[in-house]
Amino acid sequence: MTTIYGIFGWPVAHSLSPAMHNAAFHALDMDSVYVPFAVPPEQLKGALQALVALDIRGVNLTLPHKHNVLPLLDEIEPSAQLIGAVNCVSNVKGRLLGSNTDAPGLVHALLSEGIEIKNKQVTMVGAGGAARAAIVGLAEAGASTINLLARRIDQAKHLVMDLQTHIQTQLIPHDLQTVDINIIQRTELLIQASSATLHNSHEAQTLIKQLHVTSINPAAVIVDLAYGPHGTPLTRAAKAQGLAALDGMGMLLHQGVLAFERWTNERAPLDAMKAQLPGFSSAL
Ligand code: NDP
Repeated sequence: MTTIYGIFGWPVAHSLSPAMHNAAFHALDMDSVYVPFAVPPEQLKGALQALVALDIRGVNLTLPHKHNVLPLLDEIEPSAQLIGAVNCVSNVKGRLLGSNTDAPGLVHALLSEGIEIKNKQVTMVGAGGAARAAIVGLAEAGASTINLLARRIDQAKHLVMDLQTHIQTQLIPHDLQTVDINIIQRTELLIQASSATLHNSHEAQTLIKQLHVTSINPAAVIVDLAYGPHGTPLTRAAKAQGLAALDGMGMLLHQGVLAFERWTNERAPLDAMKAQLPGFSSAL
Protein backbone atom coordinates (compact mmCIF):
# COMPACT_ATOMS: atom_id res chain seq x y z
CA MET A 1 0.00 0.00 0.00
CA THR A 2 1.23 3.49 -0.80
CA THR A 3 2.73 5.27 2.21
CA ILE A 4 1.64 8.89 2.62
CA TYR A 5 3.65 11.89 3.81
CA GLY A 6 2.90 15.57 3.43
CA ILE A 7 3.14 19.17 4.49
CA PHE A 8 0.64 21.29 6.42
CA GLY A 9 0.65 25.00 5.64
CA TRP A 10 -1.72 27.91 5.11
CA PRO A 11 -1.08 28.73 2.31
CA VAL A 12 0.92 25.76 1.03
CA ALA A 13 0.68 25.83 -2.78
CA HIS A 14 4.06 27.59 -3.14
CA SER A 15 5.96 24.87 -1.25
CA LEU A 16 8.85 23.15 -3.04
CA SER A 17 8.78 20.25 -0.56
CA PRO A 18 6.31 18.01 -2.48
CA ALA A 19 8.49 18.08 -5.61
CA MET A 20 11.61 17.44 -3.56
CA HIS A 21 10.22 14.46 -1.58
CA ASN A 22 8.33 12.90 -4.49
CA ALA A 23 11.54 13.00 -6.56
CA ALA A 24 13.31 11.23 -3.70
CA PHE A 25 10.65 8.48 -3.55
CA HIS A 26 10.89 8.08 -7.32
CA ALA A 27 14.70 7.87 -7.25
CA LEU A 28 14.58 5.13 -4.60
CA ASP A 29 11.65 3.36 -6.27
CA MET A 30 9.57 3.65 -3.09
CA ASP A 31 5.78 3.31 -3.15
CA SER A 32 5.27 6.57 -1.24
CA VAL A 33 3.76 9.96 -1.95
CA TYR A 34 4.13 13.43 -0.38
CA VAL A 35 1.02 15.62 -0.52
CA PRO A 36 0.53 19.35 0.21
CA PHE A 37 -2.37 19.88 2.64
CA ALA A 38 -3.84 23.38 3.00
CA VAL A 39 -4.65 23.41 6.73
CA PRO A 40 -6.19 26.57 8.24
CA PRO A 41 -4.93 27.37 11.75
CA GLU A 42 -8.20 26.36 13.44
CA GLN A 43 -8.04 22.92 11.77
CA LEU A 44 -4.50 22.03 12.88
CA LYS A 45 -5.63 19.82 15.77
CA GLY A 46 -8.04 17.88 13.55
CA ALA A 47 -5.43 17.55 10.80
CA LEU A 48 -2.95 16.04 13.30
CA GLN A 49 -5.58 13.57 14.49
CA ALA A 50 -6.10 12.61 10.86
CA LEU A 51 -2.43 11.59 10.63
CA VAL A 52 -3.14 8.84 13.11
CA ALA A 53 -6.56 7.93 11.68
CA LEU A 54 -5.23 7.69 8.10
CA ASP A 55 -1.79 6.30 9.01
CA ILE A 56 -0.01 9.22 7.35
CA ARG A 57 3.59 8.59 8.47
CA GLY A 58 4.98 12.09 8.62
CA VAL A 59 4.39 15.73 7.78
CA ASN A 60 6.39 18.89 7.55
CA LEU A 61 4.88 22.03 9.02
CA THR A 62 5.26 25.46 7.55
CA LEU A 63 3.70 28.84 8.34
CA PRO A 64 1.63 29.37 10.45
CA HIS A 65 1.83 26.02 12.25
CA LYS A 66 5.42 25.60 13.43
CA HIS A 67 4.84 27.12 16.86
CA ASN A 68 1.14 26.39 17.46
CA VAL A 69 1.70 22.65 17.05
CA LEU A 70 3.80 22.35 20.23
CA PRO A 71 0.94 21.62 22.71
CA LEU A 72 -0.71 19.20 20.27
CA LEU A 73 2.09 16.60 20.03
CA ASP A 74 2.87 13.54 22.19
CA GLU A 75 6.60 14.22 22.36
CA ILE A 76 8.98 16.99 21.29
CA GLU A 77 12.74 16.69 20.85
CA PRO A 78 14.69 18.92 23.28
CA SER A 79 16.22 21.13 20.55
CA ALA A 80 12.78 21.72 18.97
CA GLN A 81 11.50 22.60 22.45
CA LEU A 82 14.32 25.12 22.87
CA ILE A 83 13.72 26.59 19.43
CA GLY A 84 10.00 26.69 20.17
CA ALA A 85 9.13 25.37 16.71
CA VAL A 86 8.50 22.01 15.07
CA ASN A 87 8.81 21.63 11.29
CA CYS A 88 8.78 17.83 11.18
CA VAL A 89 6.23 15.45 12.71
CA SER A 90 6.68 11.68 12.69
CA ASN A 91 3.76 9.34 13.28
CA VAL A 92 5.37 6.44 15.14
CA LYS A 93 2.69 3.81 15.75
CA GLY A 94 0.10 6.46 16.52
CA ARG A 95 2.34 8.70 18.64
CA LEU A 96 3.18 12.09 17.14
CA LEU A 97 6.81 13.10 17.64
CA GLY A 98 7.93 16.63 16.83
CA SER A 99 11.41 17.67 15.77
CA ASN A 100 13.11 20.64 14.17
CA THR A 101 15.20 19.92 11.09
CA ASP A 102 15.56 23.61 10.11
CA ALA A 103 18.39 24.21 12.60
CA PRO A 104 20.53 21.17 11.67
CA GLY A 105 19.47 21.73 8.04
CA LEU A 106 21.20 25.13 8.09
CA VAL A 107 24.30 23.64 9.69
CA HIS A 108 24.47 20.82 7.10
CA ALA A 109 23.97 23.34 4.29
CA LEU A 110 26.90 25.44 5.51
CA LEU A 111 29.23 22.53 6.22
CA SER A 112 28.46 20.94 2.84
CA GLU A 113 29.70 24.18 1.22
CA GLY A 114 32.87 24.09 3.31
CA ILE A 115 31.69 27.01 5.47
CA GLU A 116 33.11 26.59 8.95
CA ILE A 117 31.05 27.41 12.04
CA LYS A 118 33.19 26.25 14.95
CA ASN A 119 34.78 29.17 16.85
CA LYS A 120 33.42 31.68 14.32
CA GLN A 121 32.19 35.20 15.05
CA VAL A 122 28.69 35.36 13.63
CA THR A 123 26.38 38.29 12.92
CA MET A 124 22.71 37.37 12.77
CA VAL A 125 20.09 39.74 11.36
CA GLY A 126 16.49 39.35 12.54
CA ALA A 127 15.08 37.92 15.74
CA GLY A 128 12.03 35.91 14.61
CA GLY A 129 11.48 32.16 14.24
CA ALA A 130 14.19 31.49 11.65
CA ALA A 131 16.79 33.43 13.66
CA ARG A 132 15.91 31.43 16.75
CA ALA A 133 16.39 28.12 14.92
CA ALA A 134 19.61 29.37 13.32
CA ILE A 135 21.04 30.47 16.69
CA VAL A 136 20.38 27.06 18.25
CA GLY A 137 21.87 25.25 15.22
CA LEU A 138 25.00 27.44 15.08
CA ALA A 139 25.47 27.22 18.85
CA GLU A 140 25.30 23.41 18.71
CA ALA A 141 27.88 23.57 15.91
CA GLY A 142 30.26 25.58 18.13
CA ALA A 143 29.99 29.24 16.97
CA SER A 144 31.91 31.38 19.48
CA THR A 145 29.84 34.59 19.45
CA ILE A 146 26.61 35.67 17.79
CA ASN A 147 25.90 39.40 17.51
CA LEU A 148 22.16 39.55 17.11
CA LEU A 149 20.87 42.57 15.16
CA ALA A 150 17.16 43.38 15.25
CA ARG A 151 15.20 46.46 14.25
CA ARG A 152 13.40 46.12 17.59
CA ILE A 153 16.13 45.77 20.21
CA ASP A 154 13.56 44.40 22.69
CA GLN A 155 12.94 41.44 20.41
CA ALA A 156 16.69 40.70 20.27
CA LYS A 157 17.04 41.05 24.05
CA HIS A 158 14.08 38.77 24.61
CA LEU A 159 15.63 36.10 22.39
CA VAL A 160 18.96 36.37 24.21
CA MET A 161 17.21 36.06 27.59
CA ASP A 162 15.36 32.95 26.40
CA LEU A 163 18.33 31.15 24.87
CA GLN A 164 21.56 32.25 26.58
CA THR A 165 21.34 29.97 29.62
CA HIS A 166 20.88 26.94 27.36
CA ILE A 167 23.84 27.47 25.00
CA GLN A 168 27.60 28.05 25.27
CA THR A 169 27.82 30.56 22.40
CA GLN A 170 27.84 34.16 23.62
CA LEU A 171 24.79 36.06 22.37
CA ILE A 172 24.92 39.87 22.20
CA PRO A 173 21.81 41.87 21.25
CA HIS A 174 22.11 45.07 19.16
CA ASP A 175 19.81 47.61 17.61
CA LEU A 176 20.17 47.15 13.84
CA GLN A 177 19.81 50.89 13.23
CA THR A 178 22.63 51.92 15.57
CA VAL A 179 24.96 48.92 15.63
CA ASP A 180 28.69 49.66 15.60
CA ILE A 181 29.76 49.19 11.98
CA ASN A 182 32.97 47.43 13.14
CA ILE A 183 30.89 44.50 14.37
CA ILE A 184 29.48 43.92 10.92
CA GLN A 185 32.74 44.64 9.09
CA ARG A 186 34.71 42.16 11.21
CA THR A 187 32.15 39.38 11.07
CA GLU A 188 33.29 36.01 9.69
CA LEU A 189 29.81 34.69 8.96
CA LEU A 190 26.76 36.89 8.43
CA ILE A 191 23.38 35.15 8.56
CA GLN A 192 20.43 37.19 7.28
CA ALA A 193 17.39 35.70 9.06
CA SER A 194 14.91 38.57 8.75
CA SER A 195 12.09 38.64 6.22
CA ALA A 196 13.38 41.90 4.67
CA THR A 197 15.09 40.31 1.65
CA LEU A 198 12.32 38.07 0.33
CA HIS A 199 11.68 40.52 -2.51
CA ASN A 200 13.71 43.18 -4.21
CA SER A 201 11.97 45.86 -2.18
CA HIS A 202 12.83 49.18 -0.61
CA GLU A 203 13.13 47.23 2.69
CA ALA A 204 15.73 44.92 1.16
CA GLN A 205 17.78 47.82 -0.20
CA THR A 206 17.61 49.62 3.17
CA LEU A 207 18.88 46.50 4.92
CA ILE A 208 21.75 46.13 2.43
CA LYS A 209 22.79 49.72 3.25
CA GLN A 210 22.42 49.11 7.00
CA LEU A 211 24.73 46.09 6.68
CA HIS A 212 27.40 48.13 4.84
CA VAL A 213 27.81 45.30 2.36
CA THR A 214 30.29 47.37 0.37
CA SER A 215 32.78 47.36 3.24
CA ILE A 216 32.37 43.93 4.82
CA ASN A 217 35.49 41.87 5.56
CA PRO A 218 36.36 40.27 2.18
CA ALA A 219 36.89 36.87 3.85
CA ALA A 220 33.35 36.85 5.28
CA VAL A 221 30.62 34.54 4.07
CA ILE A 222 27.12 35.98 3.67
CA VAL A 223 24.18 33.61 4.06
CA ASP A 224 20.62 34.76 3.46
CA LEU A 225 17.95 32.33 4.72
CA ALA A 226 15.52 33.71 2.13
CA TYR A 227 15.86 32.12 -1.29
CA GLY A 228 14.79 32.49 -4.90
CA PRO A 229 15.67 31.18 -8.34
CA HIS A 230 18.18 34.03 -8.74
CA GLY A 231 19.32 34.30 -5.13
CA THR A 232 18.17 37.28 -3.06
CA PRO A 233 18.88 41.04 -3.27
CA LEU A 234 21.44 40.55 -0.47
CA THR A 235 23.27 37.58 -2.02
CA ARG A 236 23.39 39.43 -5.35
CA ALA A 237 24.75 42.60 -3.70
CA ALA A 238 27.32 40.57 -1.76
CA LYS A 239 28.49 38.69 -4.85
CA ALA A 240 28.79 41.97 -6.74
CA GLN A 241 31.34 42.96 -4.04
CA GLY A 242 33.23 39.69 -4.58
CA LEU A 243 31.99 38.19 -1.31
CA ALA A 244 31.06 34.53 -0.90
CA ALA A 245 27.28 34.37 -0.62
CA LEU A 246 24.67 31.67 -0.32
CA ASP A 247 20.88 31.83 -0.17
CA GLY A 248 18.54 29.64 1.92
CA MET A 249 17.90 26.94 -0.65
CA GLY A 250 20.60 24.75 0.86
CA MET A 251 18.85 25.01 4.23
CA LEU A 252 15.55 24.08 2.58
CA LEU A 253 17.21 21.09 0.90
CA HIS A 254 18.91 19.81 4.03
CA GLN A 255 15.90 20.20 6.33
CA GLY A 256 14.06 18.06 3.77
CA VAL A 257 16.87 15.50 3.63
CA LEU A 258 16.85 15.18 7.42
CA ALA A 259 13.04 14.82 7.53
CA PHE A 260 13.14 12.19 4.76
CA GLU A 261 15.76 10.16 6.60
CA ARG A 262 13.87 10.41 9.90
CA TRP A 263 10.64 9.13 8.36
CA THR A 264 11.99 6.43 6.05
CA ASN A 265 15.29 5.30 7.65
CA GLU A 266 16.68 5.45 4.10
CA ARG A 267 19.60 7.58 2.96
CA ALA A 268 18.06 10.51 1.08
CA PRO A 269 18.99 10.86 -2.62
CA LEU A 270 20.45 14.35 -2.32
CA ASP A 271 20.97 15.01 -6.03
CA ALA A 272 17.41 14.00 -6.97
CA MET A 273 16.03 16.33 -4.30
CA LYS A 274 18.36 19.18 -5.24
CA ALA A 275 17.31 18.91 -8.89
CA GLN A 276 13.78 20.00 -7.88
CA LEU A 277 14.96 23.33 -6.46
CA PRO A 278 14.94 25.91 -9.28
CA GLY A 279 18.10 27.96 -9.35
CA PHE A 280 19.89 25.96 -6.64
CA SER A 281 23.48 27.02 -6.71
CA SER A 282 26.40 26.42 -4.47
CA ALA A 283 27.14 30.08 -5.05
CA LEU A 284 30.46 30.42 -3.24
P1 NDP B 1 9.36 35.94 11.37
O1 NDP B 1 8.18 36.71 10.92
O2 NDP B 1 9.26 35.00 12.52
O3 NDP B 1 10.55 36.94 11.72
C1 NDP B 1 10.95 37.92 10.81
C2 NDP B 1 12.01 38.82 11.47
O4 NDP B 1 12.45 39.74 10.47
C3 NDP B 1 11.50 39.64 12.63
O5 NDP B 1 12.54 39.79 13.57
C4 NDP B 1 11.18 40.97 11.94
O6 NDP B 1 11.16 42.07 12.80
C5 NDP B 1 12.36 41.05 11.01
N1 NDP B 1 12.18 42.00 9.92
C6 NDP B 1 11.15 42.05 9.03
N2 NDP B 1 11.34 43.05 8.17
C7 NDP B 1 12.52 43.64 8.51
C8 NDP B 1 13.26 44.74 8.01
N3 NDP B 1 12.83 45.43 6.96
N4 NDP B 1 14.42 45.06 8.59
C9 NDP B 1 14.88 44.37 9.66
N5 NDP B 1 14.22 43.32 10.21
C10 NDP B 1 13.05 42.97 9.63
O7 NDP B 1 9.87 35.17 10.05
P2 NDP B 1 10.82 33.89 9.99
O8 NDP B 1 11.85 34.06 11.03
O9 NDP B 1 10.01 32.66 9.98
O10 NDP B 1 11.46 34.01 8.52
C11 NDP B 1 12.50 34.92 8.25
C12 NDP B 1 13.14 34.60 6.89
O11 NDP B 1 13.74 33.30 6.92
C13 NDP B 1 12.14 34.59 5.73
O12 NDP B 1 12.77 35.18 4.61
C14 NDP B 1 11.91 33.11 5.48
O13 NDP B 1 11.57 32.83 4.15
C15 NDP B 1 13.31 32.55 5.80
N6 NDP B 1 13.27 31.13 6.16
C16 NDP B 1 13.99 30.27 5.38
C17 NDP B 1 13.99 28.92 5.66
C18 NDP B 1 14.79 28.01 4.77
O14 NDP B 1 14.60 26.80 4.82
N7 NDP B 1 15.68 28.54 3.97
C19 NDP B 1 13.25 28.35 6.79
C20 NDP B 1 12.54 29.37 7.57
C21 NDP B 1 12.55 30.70 7.24
P3 NDP B 1 9.72 42.66 13.29
O15 NDP B 1 9.19 41.65 14.26
O16 NDP B 1 10.09 43.96 13.86
O17 NDP B 1 8.84 42.75 12.06
